[in-house]
Amino acid sequence: MANLLDGNSLAKSILKKVKVQVLNMASPPQLAVIIVGDNPASRVYVDNKKKDCAVCGIVSYEFTLPEDIGEDKLLALIRELNERCDIHGILVQLPLPEGYDIQKIIQAISPEKDVDAFHMLNVGRILNGEYSFLPCTPAGVIAMLDHYGLDPKGKHAVVVGHSNIVGKPMAMMLLHRHATVTICHIHTVDLAAFTRQADILVCAVGKIGLITADMVKPGAVVIDVGINRKEAGGICGDVDFDSVSQIASYISPVPGGVGPMTRAMLMQNTIKAASMLS
Ligand code: NAP
Repeated sequence: MANLLDGNSLAKSILKKVKVQVLNMASPPQLAVIIVGDNPASRVYVDNKKKDCAVCGIVSYEFTLPEDIGEDKLLALIRELNERCDIHGILVQLPLPEGYDIQKIIQAISPEKDVDAFHMLNVGRILNGEYSFLPCTPAGVIAMLDHYGLDPKGKHAVVVGHSNIVGKPMAMMLLHRHATVTICHIHTVDLAAFTRQADILVCAVGKIGLITADMVKPGAVVIDVGINRKEAGGICGDVDFDSVSQIASYISPVPGGVGPMTRAMLMQNTIKAASMLS
């Protein structure tokens, strides 16, 4: 039976450290969270981020905008927040409703306040390894590997999913840690042939049951980034936890794995932004 990569307890200990750092700052960092429309999943994510801020002593401001606010007004709010010296971090909860140009919105956020690290400048900095912020989800995965002493160096890491916010930066960060990295995606022919070679398998797709035990090398470290809503209620990942946990050496659960780590990394990025701006 695999060891559990317990994101809940690790995230809690990170939040405790962030709280101490905040107490030692001249004034608490301030995070602006913008949510457009009433996507229920986004609502949960934003509420959880606000809860984490409260735990850490970070001040959070929520800007709730109606779905039809339009790009111009959204951009005007971002510009205003960019200018405000009291705001250190800005994030726009994704996805945005249909009709919004996500790239245009993200690129409007000042790179110094881009605590999600989605701005092109921050993305580019990840590529050359000289970054201020790392995107929260892949950073959370790396923090998890570090905590459990699972060094990617010399390992074959297979990342399934190549999105700009998870898969690609994940692959780059594993490469910085000297793993040999394979990236798989929707057009990969014979996905299992690649996943079976993985010493470290990171799955970030959003498809229930995509990774089954026959696709995993015995003893592999399996990190499940996926979040899928189950018909019966609740959430699950992309990995068939029950069967894969029988053969993996380490496995992250959903919920309680990468999700809380992602949020903990957001708190770290926010204090970093505040330190850089003060
Ligand atoms: P995304 O933008 O939809 O990307 C999904 C990726 O999976 C795409 O690269 C897609 O390829 C690829 N893909 C789709 N079907 C595939 C298949 N059958 N085999 C291999 N690859 C396939 O999603 P995302 O934002 O990266 O998020 C991925 C998952 O992680 C989602 O479930 C999301 O909810 C979850 N997530 C979790 C956290 C967390 O904190 N735990 C944070 C962010 C995201 P194409 O683009 O070529 O179609």
